[in-house]
Amino acid sequence: MSPKEKRRISTIFRILKQDNPEPRGDLVFKNPFELLVAVVLSAQATDVSVNKATPALFEQAPDPQAMVDLGIDGIREHIRSIGLFNNKAKNIHALSQELLDRFAGEVPQNRPDLESLPGVGRKSANVVLNVAFGQPTLAVDTHVFRVAHRLGFATGKTPTAVEKQLLQVVPKTYMDHAHHWMILHGRYICKARKPECAACLIERYCTFTEKKTS
Ligand code: SF4
Repeated sequence: MSPKEKRRISTIFRILKQDNPEPRGDLVFKNPFELLVAVVLSAQATDVSVNKATPALFEQAPDPQAMVDLGIDGIREHIRSIGLFNNKAKNIHALSQELLDRFAGEVPQNRPDLESLPGVGRKSANVVLNVAFGQPTLAVDTHVFRVAHRLGFATGKTPTAVEKQLLQVVPKTYMDHAHHWMILHGRYICKARKPECAACLIERYCTFTEKKTS
């Protein structure tokens, strides 16, 4: 990467950080277990719909043992309003049992163990590693994928390819929150159909050829 390109990318993250120094995702959780469950529930569902269901679920099942005791039917009753609730109820029950059986009831802090849990793929593992444990990972969802392409950070055709490119180009000093800055930017400004380029703080540094500035 050229020094100029390095400076451009660094400037973009500096501006995003200035605007929002401590970004947080929209999922509501109190500990790594709740985050893990919320992330599993959020697959192909909105964070808003997950946040509506989880307070009552976590009230009744605040830890893996209580979740196992609640049973698949009990979990299902709490998450009926969320897409794919049947499968998700089974996965949350099974992953809670595995946390008890294999990890002394704790959420593991490494990718292979996280990805070995039912319903937990690479993206979910990245979210948990980054958000719960502060590891320099970057989960590529639809927003991050789009923003990375528009800003010229990545050209990869798959989320994993984009993730690998981002790990190369995002300056280390911004890795802790890069995931959230890009998600929030994609969700609220650099929207899929109608990016709000006129209101975009980093418009000057964006290479997207179809910017909409008027
Ligand atoms: S200028 Fe437009 S396309 Fe570029 S990052 Fe901002 S909102 Fe997205």
